[in-house]
Formats: sequence, structure tokens, C-alpha cells
Amino acid sequence: MFKKQRGKAGNAGRYAKSGKFVFFFGRGKAEGDRTLRDLLGGKGANLAEMTNAGLPVPPGFTISTAACRLYYEEGRKVSSKVDAQMADQLRKLEKVTGASFGSMKNPLLVSVRSGAKFSMPGMMDTILNLGLNDDTVEALKARTSNGRFARDSYRRFIQMFGNVVLEIGKEEFEHELEAVKHARGVTEDPQLDEEALREVVERYKRVVATRTGKPFPQDPLTQLRLSRDAVFRSWQNPRAREYRRIYGIPDDIGTAVNVQMMVFGNTGDRSGTGVGFTRNPATGAKEFYGEFLINAQGEDVVAGIRTPRPIAELETVMPKAFKQLRQITTRLEKHYRDVQDFEFTIEDEQLYMLQTRSGKRTGYAAVVIATDLVAERLVKPVDAVKMVDPEALSQLLAPIFDPKDWQKLPVATRGLPASPGAASGQVVFTADHAVEWSRAGKRVMLVRKETVPDDIHGMFVAQGILTATGGMTSHAAVVGRQMGKPSVVGAGALRIDDRTKTLAIGDHRLKEGDWLSFDGLTGEVKMGQVATRPSEILQVVNGELKAKKSDIFGRFNQLLSWADKVRRMGIRANADQPDQAEIAYGFGARGIGLCRTEHMFFGEGRIAIVQEMILADNETDRRAALDKLLPLQRDDFYGVFKAMHGSPVTIRTIDPPLHEFLPKREDLMVEIARMEATGGTVGLDEKRKLLARVEQLHEFNPMLGHRGVRLGITYPEITEMQTRAIMEAACQLTKKGGKAVPEIMIPLVGDLRELRDQKAVVVRVAEEVLKEYKVKVKYLVGTMIEVPRGAVTADEIAKEADFFSFGTNDLTQLTYGFSRDDIGKFLGAYQDRGILERDPFASLDVSGVGELVAMGTQKGRATRPDLKIGVCGEHGGDPSSIHFFEKTGFDYVSCSPYRVPVARLAAAQAALQEHALD
Ligand code: ADP
Ligand code: MG
Ligand code: MG
Repeated sequence: MFKKQRGKAGNAGRYAKSGKFVFFFGRGKAEGDRTLRDLLGGKGANLAEMTNAGLPVPPGFTISTAACRLYYEEGRKVSSKVDAQMADQLRKLEKVTGASFGSMKNPLLVSVRSGAKFSMPGMMDTILNLGLNDDTVEALKARTSNGRFARDSYRRFIQMFGNVVLEIGKEEFEHELEAVKHARGVTEDPQLDEEALREVVERYKRVVATRTGKPFPQDPLTQLRLSRDAVFRSWQNPRAREYRRIYGIPDDIGTAVNVQMMVFGNTGDRSGTGVGFTRNPATGAKEFYGEFLINAQGEDVVAGIRTPRPIAELETVMPKAFKQLRQITTRLEKHYRDVQDFEFTIEDEQLYMLQTRSGKRTGYAAVVIATDLVAERLVKPVDAVKMVDPEALSQLLAPIFDPKDWQKLPVATRGLPASPGAASGQVVFTADHAVEWSRAGKRVMLVRKETVPDDIHGMFVAQGILTATGGMTSHAAVVGRQMGKPSVVGAGALRIDDRTKTLAIGDHRLKEGDWLSFDGLTGEVKMGQVATRPSEILQVVNGELKAKKSDIFGRFNQLLSWADKVRRMGIRANADQPDQAEIAYGFGARGIGLCRTEHMFFGEGRIAIVQEMILADNETDRRAALDKLLPLQRDDFYGVFKAMHGSPVTIRTIDPPLHEFLPKREDLMVEIARMEATGGTVGLDEKRKLLARVEQLHEFNPMLGHRGVRLGITYPEITEMQTRAIMEAACQLTKKGGKAVPEIMIPLVGDLRELRDQKAVVVRVAEEVLKEYKVKVKYLVGTMIEVPRGAVTADEIAKEADFFSFGTNDLTQLTYGFSRDDIGKFLGAYQDRGILERDPFASLDVSGVGELVAMGTQKGRATRPDLKIGVCGEHGGDPSSIHFFEKTGFDYVSCSPYRVPVARLAAAQAALQEHALD
């Protein structure tokens, strides 16, 4: 049934040059197919693909994303070429359907649907029933012998068009609808008869006329043009932009517009509409899953106004259509080799497919589905590696409730388990409050009647999302799953009063700020706060749970072991302490890429010794303090080496400015003043001395001040002590039959001579220790490349370095000149104006900082071809940055222990992609 795929990227390129902007689908043949997603958007490409497969898809055409880009290039104007092609395709559609715009015999009615390459809930609402006007509504009535249906379709059209295209508030239409209902003494929409709906239509038209100063457009072609332009416009609406920002979707790819013949799910009890998944998108279970409504149109199912019925019930209501739907969707899943999320409408028992796409799923479901598809031989292990979003794995590490604590509270109510995970937070009722409160450091629970795309910023920061209406495919459910955010929807017992900001569950009333918890896997909601605890996977890694007892751990491990087979780069972790190193090892890190020695200085009883060292005003005193620190550091290093079982451990010598280890100047001054005022004398002298030293150490710009290699150069005894601690630990472990591979790393080097100076100290002390212990330990001395000058002179620096580790946090800071601690003040504005798409500290700026990284790599390897190169900045755990490091030829990436699974999978995907390109 499905034709063989044509050559991959070729088609899009060909059409880009041909100037073809509008693509037809219908009658078993389409001009596009699924390989044209860039051009037709996901929806359009899949409508074409389904049409080619002979599935029942209402005919139509897709106006390409290229037309949208052109619209913006020409200053928000549709080019005449696009308009002419649209008119041609419209004629073709009229021929194929036997209906035509404005016809009194058989009026053509269409939907106008947006559809970008990536599905974007932030974009325009669909317009249905376009082509209706005062005349064609009569024709529709005559054709269907259903006057009520015809009027209802017309009033829906005016409402959607009025809202989406003319930007008139939904409530203005709702208001009129309510007024008519009130006047007729009815409460529900279906109780309105044809006459009543006629009045609604008249009122709607008056709303349009007063709000726009023009009558409601009667000409179908005008209606179509205006709707098309509204789709193009919606690409730049704030919701869509916010969505793109969160998901890193480029701003310049544009959206396609799909124009498609209407089919009607609202002609009566033999019609309906629904949505579904070929597998459960929350748990991954292999079950037919979805919802439908009888006698309903379009978004009724997901709007949360009527509560839809589970799809299994369709079998009893319309067995033939149900059977056909199951067959089609099973075929679709086999064809696309992935879970499908589909939309359908049944008109008088006749089934139509309106959409299919690969289904969004929770991280949990993603892992279950990928491993199941391999077991079912639908995909190969490498395909499973490709299909799971690396971020899904970090969702699997999200906390769960301790069952004992959870059981203590009674179930207040239940909703639909839309997205798994334990959530506990303080109730807020608006997205804006959610953001405000979470900025103030609170954990919030966003509680809404239903969510809308405007809520996305609030959903993003909330611990969980709870709604009163809506089904498993409502906005809250879909977005919650995608964000990996615990969500429970359709908890019908919730009564939310937005005005008084209260929430009633039975006899209980909750105010804003009260605690609420729920379990997104079961749908149970409880009043109160419940502590959360580590996920099952983390429990296995911690050794609290046997691996064999955890199904999900088995799958997680399986997937990652497939990833490891195709991955080229090594994965290390940034860990400072033995316990962190153990977790990292458990997650699959084979090496430490960054052990920050100064973090050890903050351990119990240590900071006092560190301060003693800093306060020393002569070398002898300083050495005495360092002697006390030595055994402490040595024990830590010993533990870290041991936890790594012979994998390399990169240890960085002291990096931060010394004042970070001392109390704040203001705090000291207050304390001294208080002591002086109360006559307290104990310790006063020490405090004064401390203050004097703090003032002496004060720097105007500490990040550019006395830190990194500069400390080692001015106080070589610190480097000496640290080298000794590292090497003694390595020797001790070696003597006990273990293996240690120390890599000593000098930070912030921008000049070869800095490294040379410190390397001499390191090598001298290391050799001394090796001689004392009489054992052999191989060690490397290298440097961080994090100062732009270091990257630019990497060929020089490589003369003395056994390895480079790119410190992309500082390198980003120093390349952009953005302080990492202050960027928050303006990053939002930069993103709003489209100056930056993503936070460069989270995702590597490939064109700027990346150039320096590439140059440093190339120059370093020019001097020393076997130079070992890695990254230890935050970017080491970011999938898109990992792609860049793969391309640049890094040997490894290093990230936080919890990101290790993400990095393993992302590195595998990067390797597969790079490999596919040769
Ligand atoms: P979204 O991208 O928000 O899912 P769609 O373009 O898929 O928006 O449209 C939403 C719903 O509108 C569809 O699921 C379907 O129920 C209805 N719809 C769209 N086009 C048609 C059509 N030609 N005939 C009948 N219903 C339609
Ligand atoms: Mg849809
Ligand atoms: Mg640094």
C-alpha cells in the first residue's frame, strides 16, 4: 500500500528551485510525501503520505513554508505568485470534490490549518467550515436536509474566523451565545434549535461589524486569503515565539498552511470525531488509546468543554468505523515504525483520517516503546537509539513519592494520569503567578480549569499541572508530557474560583499558597505536602533496589548499552567527591572530566583551615596550614580514584579567587559593630584581622582577578600541596592493588609560560612522591582552555600540555563578555527581541565560542596529534552541544553525574549522524 520512499533530501531542494509553492493532495495521489517535512510542515507531509497510501483523507492542498518565508521577506505580503498558485490548486480541488466556492448546489467548504515542521501548540487555531456565507448556509441545509447543523456550522465559522483572523476576543461571541440561551431558557448548546442559531449568527455578524467596522466577509475566496495570511502572521505571535524559545526551534523556518475539504463529525449521532495513539503515551503500554465524541466537530475533543469517551467504546457505537480505524492506525505505526498520534472524523459512519504524526510521549514511555519496538522487530537497536530524545532519560530520573508517606494522606480526588511523576507544590491559579512565585524560590503547583497555550511559561516552572476539565489529549496533558512535567487532568471534582483564588475539593477549600500533591502515574490528588524521593533508576544506581527488580531500569540499561556500541566519544562526569563519583560511575561515566579541588575545602571542619592558610602573612604559616589540608585532600582523591575503578580522573588545581572562602565583608562589619556595641571582646581581634584581610583581597572584578593559574603562580606551595595529595592518593591506591590515572589540570591558562611555570612545580613534586612511594603511576599534566587567548595560542600551549579540556563556561563568559552570574538580567530581553535564541551558557554558541573551540582543537593537534581533548563546561551535558563536540573530534565530554545517561545517548546519536554524512 505504501509506495517506496523516494530519495531523501533531494525533493525539497528540487522544489525550492522550481518555485512551486502549493502542493495538492487527493484522490489517492499527492504531489508531496513525508520526506518534504521542511517544505510542507509535518501535518502537510503526512496528509500527502496518507493520501498516497490510499487512506481516506479529505482532499486539499498545502501552501509551503517557503511561501511563509517569502511572506516575511516581502514585508508581510503574500507574493502574487503564491496567490496565483493557490487559485490554481483551488480550481483543482473544486474539480476533484465536485463542489465549488460559493456554489448554491454544492458549496465547497474547507478547513484552514497551520502546520510547521515541528508540531507547535503555540500557533494558530484551526478554522473550520470556511466557505459558508448567508447563501451557502442555505445550500448546506438543502444538501444535508439538516437546517440546525447548517446554522451551527456557520456560527462556528464566524466565531473561529472572528477570533483567529479578526482577533476579536472569544468572550464577545460567548456572550452573545449565552444571551440567546438565556432568552430561550436553555442551558446547553445542543438545546438551541435552528431558529435560535439563526439569531446567534445574526448577533455574531453584528459583533464583527461593530468591532471591525466592516461586514463579515461573504466572499469565500476573501475568507480564504485572510485566513491564510492569519496563519502566516501567527508564526510570529508571542505564544509561538515563546514555544520556539523553550524548545529551541529556529525562528526562520516558517509554517505551512493546509487547506482541506471539510468532513463533518457533527451531522448527528452517526457522526463523531476523535483523537488517539497507537500506544499509551504516558506509560508506553501497547494498547489502543484515545478518545472520541459523538456529534462533535474539530477541537471539541481536546477543548475540555465536553468530557470525551474512551476510544474502546467506539467499537460498540460504530463497529465498522472502529475496525477500519484500528486497521489503518496499525498500518500507520508499521509504516512510520513509530507510535502514531492520529486525528479522525466520522461523517455518517464514513471514516476520514485528518492527521497522523509520531506521538509525543513521556520519557518513561519513550524508553518502554523504543525497547518494545526492538523486541517486536519493528525497528533495529540503532533505530531505537535514534528515536529516544536524550532529555527523556533525565525525566526518568525525576523523583517519586515515598509510598509510605504518600499513603498517609487520604486521596482527595482523582484525575486522569496524563504525565507521570511526583509533584508537590503550593497552589497557584495563573501562569503569571506560577512564574512570580517560582522566581521567589517557591515550588508551585499550577491549578487551572484547563490550560491554554498562553499558560506555557507557567507550566514550564511548575512542579506539576492539575486541571479540572479535559481528557488525556487536552492541552495540559500533551504539553505536560512533552515537558516531562507531572500532570493530572480532568479532575472533575475540583471547583476553581479564579476570582477569589480558591479551590474547592468536596468540603475542603484551598487558598493560593496551600500545599497540594499528586501522582502523575495514578492520577491521585492529595491535600498537603509530601516529600519526594529518587526515581527507581536512581535507586538501582544507589544500590537501594536490585536491578533485576526494576523493569524500567532493565530497559534504560538496554537502550544505553545499544547507544554505547555506536558512540565514539568517551563520557566522563564532573564530580568532586567520592559519593558523586560513585553515582556517576553507576550511570556509566568512565572517567572524571573535572574534579574541582576547592569544593573539598568547604567540607566540615575544613573551611577554618583554609581560612588559616589565606590569613597567613608568611610562607611558613601558609605551609603549616597547607600541611593540615594535605591529608584531607588526599583522602578525597583516594575515594574518587577508587570510585572510578581505574578510569582517568582529571583534577583541577585551585581556581576561584580566595575571597570566596572568607566571610562577606558586610557581614563581618556588622558583626564587629555589634560586638563593639555590646562590649563583647572574645574573638574581636580575630574578626578585625579577618576583615582587614578581606578588604585586602577585595577585587573590582574577581572573575578576571587573582584566580586560576594566577594563584598557583603567586602561591606555588598550594600547587605543591595539591599535587602531593593527588600523587600520594594515587600511590596508596596502587600499593593496595588498585589503579589510579591522575590527570592534573591547570585552569585559566592563556599563555604557554603560565602552564610551563606550573607544570614544573607539578612534575617536580609528582616525581618526588613517586620516588618516596617506589611505585609507578602514569600521570598527565594538561590545561583548561577557557581564556580566548588560550584557544588562539593553542599550538604554543600544546607544547607543554598532555591534554586540553575546554572550560566552555568561562570561555563563553570571556568571549561574549557576558558575566555568567548577571546574564539573567538581560537574557530575557535578548531572547524576546530575537538577538539570542538560547542561553549560550546552556547550549554552546557554535558560531562564536564554537569557532574558538574548533581553532583551539585544530591548533593543539597540529602541535601534538595525539592531544587528548574534552570539555568540562556545562555544555558537556547538552545534546546539541554534544553534536558539535562530536563533529569537532573531541575524545570525550564531561557533565554532571545525572546528565551522564543523556550524554551517552546524545553522543551515540551524534556519532550516528556524523557517520551517516560521510
Ligand atoms: P492542531 O494542529 O491544533 O491539531 P488541526 O489542524 O489538526 O489542529 O485541526 C484540529 C481539528 O480540526 C482536527 O483534529 C479535526 O478534528 C478538525 N479538522 C481540521 N480539518 C478538518 C476537516 N477538513 N474536516 C473536518 N475536521 C477538520
Ligand atoms: Mg491536529
Ligand atoms: Mg573556569
